[in-house]
Parts: sequence; C-alpha cells; structure tokens
Amino acid sequence: MKSNDQLARIDQYIYDNVDKFIEILGQLCAIPSVTADAQQSEVCARLVASLLTQQEIEARIVSTGGNPVVIGETQSNEGNTLLFYLHYDVQPPEPIDLWESPPFELTRRNNKLFARGAADDKGHIVARLAAIAAVQHALGKLPCKVKIVVEGEEESGSPNLPAFIQQHKEELNADACVWEFGGVNHEDVPNPGAWNEGYLLC
Ligand SMILES: [Zn+2]
Repeated sequence: MKSNDQLARIDQYIYDNVDKFIEILGQLCAIPSVTADAQQSEVCARLVASLLTQQEIEARIVSTGGNPVVIGETQSNEGNTLLFYLHYDVQPPEPIDLWESPPFELTRRNNKLFARGAADDKGHIVARLAAIAAVQHALGKLPCKVKIVVEGEEESGSPNLPAFIQQHKEELNADACVWEFGGVNHEDVPNPGAWNEGYLLC
C-alpha cells in the first residue's frame, strides 16, 4: 500500500503534466490510423514506439501479417510483471457530417476531449504512459516490471494477434494484464479496466 504522501505526489505529477499528455494525445489522434489503412497504421506504430522510447521504455515494432504491433518493456526488474494491452487503430470516422469538430483534430468542448480514438484506445495509451511516468516520479522507480503491447487491428477483430502471441509468448509473459479501458464511473470512482489475470499467458 502506498502512503498518502506518495499518492499525493502521483496526483500532483499528473496535474503538473496534464497539458503535455494532452498534447501527446493530440499527436496520436491526428494520425488517421483506421485499421484498413496500412500506411497510416505504420505511421501510428512508429509514433507509439517513439513515445515509449522517450519515456525510457525499450520499444520495438514487430511486423505481422497485417498492421505492425509495438512491444515495450520497462527496465525495472522488481516484483511482478504487469502487461498493458492497447491498440492504436481506430474505427472509420464516417459519417463525417455527424462530427461537431474534425475527427482527427483533438478538440476540447465542455472540458471534454473529442477525436476519433480519443477514448478507444489512444487515450488509454497516453493514460498508461502518464501513469508510468507519475509512479516513477513519485516512488523514484517502478514497483514492478511493465510490459506494453499495442496492436493495430483490434477494430477488425485482431486477426493476426493469436499468431503474434504464439510467436512472442515468452516476451509477453506477465503476472496480470490490464485490457485497455479504465476511467471513472458515474460516481467518480476509478474503474481500472478489464483485469485478465493469466490472459495472454498461453
Ligand atoms: Zn478498443
């Protein structure tokens, strides 16, 4: 259990850096990485890998039969291993005329952020990066190893993910997996997303 002081430092780090992370989200949302667009998927995978690297998370882009997958791993070797599953692909923006602002331009309205993928799932990529940075800052180091897998075909049923997992099962081995999502419910209580202990450990 973390002390209240450490939790306060985590919160403070997020408050102090929220604009920086929103700017990163804007960069990700500006790439129209619709699953069927192989070229933009490649561009988005490269940006995700570079965002991980900027945070000193060792990252590489792995080719698959479809869009590439980005794998990242923190240098910490302490404790258990937590795996974040995320995806950088998005649904097509059509019908365009239903959008109040351009779908690939992160826009703030009524203190909410709008863009295709702002929530599912680019927002979660940025939230995980912010969380890793905040915990590192507050505790001086991560209390566990964190692995990250960011695929690019979730919105079309992840056709190449099973083979990818089979080929990289050692690298993906973890004690628990957080499966995208996470936010606050109607009572403002954080929802950590879907926990799948043992998932992806095939
Ligand atoms: Zn999703």
